Amino acid sequence: PVLVGVLAVQGDVREHVAALERSGAAVRRVRRPEELEGLDGLVVPGGESTTIDRLARIFGLHEPVRALVRAGLPVYGSCAGMIQLADQILDGHAEQQTFGGIDMTVRRNAFGRQVDSFEAGLVVPALLEPERPFPAVFIRAPRVEHHGPGVQVLARVDDAVVAVRQGNLLATSFHPEVSGDDRVHQLFVRICCAHHAAVRPTVATAS
Ligand code: GLN
Repeated sequence: PVLVGVLAVQGDVREHVAALERSGAAVRRVRRPEELEGLDGLVVPGGESTTIDRLARIFGLHEPVRALVRAGLPVYGSCAGMIQLADQILDGHAEQQTFGGIDMTVRRNAFGRQVDSFEAGLVVPALLEPERPFPAVFIRAPRVEHHGPGVQVLARVDDAVVAVRQGNLLATSFHPEVSGDDRVHQLFVRICCAHHAAVRPTVATAS
């Protein structure tokens, strides 16, 4: 199977590990730069983006993750992880930095105080069985305010863009790891498999 890392400095790491394993990946929790070696993909979980950013820098993970994103490693960010994949953010802390990689501007906590969390059935044509709505859980969720032409919109809630893909980078405002529906993780594992096959082609042995 492909080996997928989960950035494990803060956030709902365990739920992503379980969803990835159910989707057929081998999983490694990543807390140190050495643990990034040999991965076919990386997940940045939901949690608190300011804390993930601060700890990633303290643990020496910020620069290596940025470099891997730019080198084409598949990376999936949910919620706080989406914020960390945005080239620009709005309503961030003054010091806050992101890994970047997706040509988009994301606003933190964009759905307002009255609706801190909610669930919506989303139509996501990029998923398997697209006719079945995806039960998307939003918790103090960000939204994509602007994006460049290279960014593919995968889902919207009303007018708000809440799921995007740019090349091997995938991001959702919502938390598929808590919904019991693994189709977003399955999509990401397929992206990791394609990357693995492109980077490490199996040499056919003569029989
Ligand atoms: N509001 C959080 C942030 O800015 C994200 C919330 C989440 O990941 N559920 O990091």
